[in-house]
Amino acid sequence: MFDVAIIGCGPTGAFAANLLGKAGLSVLVLEKEARPYPLPRAVHLDHEMMRLFQSAGVIDRVEPDMRDTEGHLHVGADHGVIRYMGTVGKPRPFSWSNDYFFFQPELEDHLRDALEAYANVEVRLGTAFAGLAQDADGVTLDLTTAAGNEHIRARFVIACDGARSAVRKALGVELDDLDFDEPWLVVDAEVDGPVRFPDLSGVPAAANLQTLSVMVCDPARPTTVVPGRGNHRRWEFMLLPGEDDQAMMRPEAVAALLAPYLDGVPHEIVRATTYHFHGLVAQQWRKGRVLLAGDAAHQTPPFFGQGMCHGLRDIANLAWKLPLVLDGSAPESLLDTYQAERDPHVRAVISAAVATGRYICVLDPMAAATRDETMRAAAKDRESGTAADLIPAIATGIVAAGTPGAGDRFIQPRVGGRLLDDVTGAGWRLFTAVPAPIDIAARGAATVIDLATLDDGGAVAGWLEERGVAAVLVRPDHYVFGTGQPAALIAQRDALLARAPHGLAGPEPVAAHQGASS
Ligand SMILES: Cc1cc2nc3c(=O)[nH]c(=O)nc-3n(C[C@H](O)[C@H](O)[C@H](O)COP(=O)(O)OP(=O)(O)OC[C@H]3O[C@@H](n4cnc5c(N)ncnc54)[C@H](O)[C@@H]3O)c2cc1C
Repeated sequence: MFDVAIIGCGPTGAFAANLLGKAGLSVLVLEKEARPYPLPRAVHLDHEMMRLFQSAGVIDRVEPDMRDTEGHLHVGADHGVIRYMGTVGKPRPFSWSNDYFFFQPELEDHLRDALEAYANVEVRLGTAFAGLAQDADGVTLDLTTAAGNEHIRARFVIACDGARSAVRKALGVELDDLDFDEPWLVVDAEVDGPVRFPDLSGVPAAANLQTLSVMVCDPARPTTVVPGRGNHRRWEFMLLPGEDDQAMMRPEAVAALLAPYLDGVPHEIVRATTYHFHGLVAQQWRKGRVLLAGDAAHQTPPFFGQGMCHGLRDIANLAWKLPLVLDGSAPESLLDTYQAERDPHVRAVISAAVATGRYICVLDPMAAATRDETMRAAAKDRESGTAADLIPAIATGIVAAGTPGAGDRFIQPRVGGRLLDDVTGAGWRLFTAVPAPIDIAARGAATVIDLATLDDGGAVAGWLEERGVAAVLVRPDHYVFGTGQPAALIAQRDALLARAPHGLAGPEPVAAHQGASS
């Protein structure tokens, strides 16, 4: 019996296999296709993902293909700026740039290649999920392969099988529709030269149009222009009422749409496809021993490039909880905190993306002019944030709610030139300015970091001072459990995990997997 079966080896599933493999669990990954999906979908990810790639031990593989960027710029009907979410000169709380562009098939290749390091992770391509049955000990999965049908057993299943998730359907889980459904034409091209933006005005001096994602909120044709990695560029064009998506994908229609941006610039179209951008969230993310993650659990309009990022956050959340449940250190009910923590987060970001989508998709010129006026007036009164500011704190779950900073993502300063997590490890960490009871470290309840010994230029001490607290307990997914006195924090954490306070050592590494058993 496997500890965990992961269904689907897209970015969510492949990332899950890396984190769970690193945790020493026996993992089976089932993927119906023989090869990864070859065309780019996601192009943007944020700094939290870079930190998660560090946690999964894949950062050295993925970083060289990332292109850091400088945020988002929205222009109105008159092509003047209405919103600037630039990151130039803004803080870098995790020591990574706030935003990156990448090529999804390359990222997926890296995540799959990294699995070769784990004898405890088995990947079966060309194997499709067909059905499941659950009992008190685990899940039996019915699988379809070229050779016929087979069954395997796993104690838990993570369904990472994408938007049309067969697992979600088999579980009878419905989706909440957050009321956004717009057809867009997505065009990817390799471009040999700078993209042209002929008539923009009011662009801030710090903004480099070649490294920003630019949303042209022109009612004549709402359009997003995104710089990819290397020479890759992405355009997303809203389809207007009455336009036929098949006709709009034809080369002559695509060429006409690209002409203002690529006039005289050599380029090659990689693909042109229409998508419906949705805002959808599963009503239940856990049914017994089966957990939904990634697009199987939610779909986000891509206006802030967060759809895939949600999936990686889902996995970071599960990856420290599943080992505790599997080794009996925590009850299965710990897994109920998964949806409690992740669902509000996903809905908040989808709501922001839907709200943005609504103003981007305005097609009435009068309404667009009013929108532009209102947004420019609002921008004068407040400093524009970065897209990273969209991410809310965890309010309910394994957090010491009400303590300053609880549920926030903890900072990652550099420590003597290295990144904090690389120095401390990514388990439970207690950063303290006051002496901590010796037994916290001795019984493995957390890694204790005495701030007097941390060569981080005072960054963590400053974080504590800002909140007027003595210590902070940070979770393995880098969210703040809570702040206060060391012993009290550990006691509160242990009580919330509903387990005896006897340490949090991870599970024993599982020997190389011994083949499917039932
Ligand atoms: C145009 C567009 C732009 C986007 N831009 C961004 C962006 O900039 N940033 C961002 O973060 N996100 C973006 N997204 C969203 C992002 O692409 C998805 O959120 C992400 O691909 C979801 O990953 P996943 O692994 O959950 O699902 P998928 O990538 O869909 O992978 C699911 C996997 O499961 C497999 N599978 C399906 N059924 C079965 C079965 N029965 N048995 C076994 N295997 C099965 C599939 O073959 C596939 O490999 C964008 C999406 C689109 C369409």
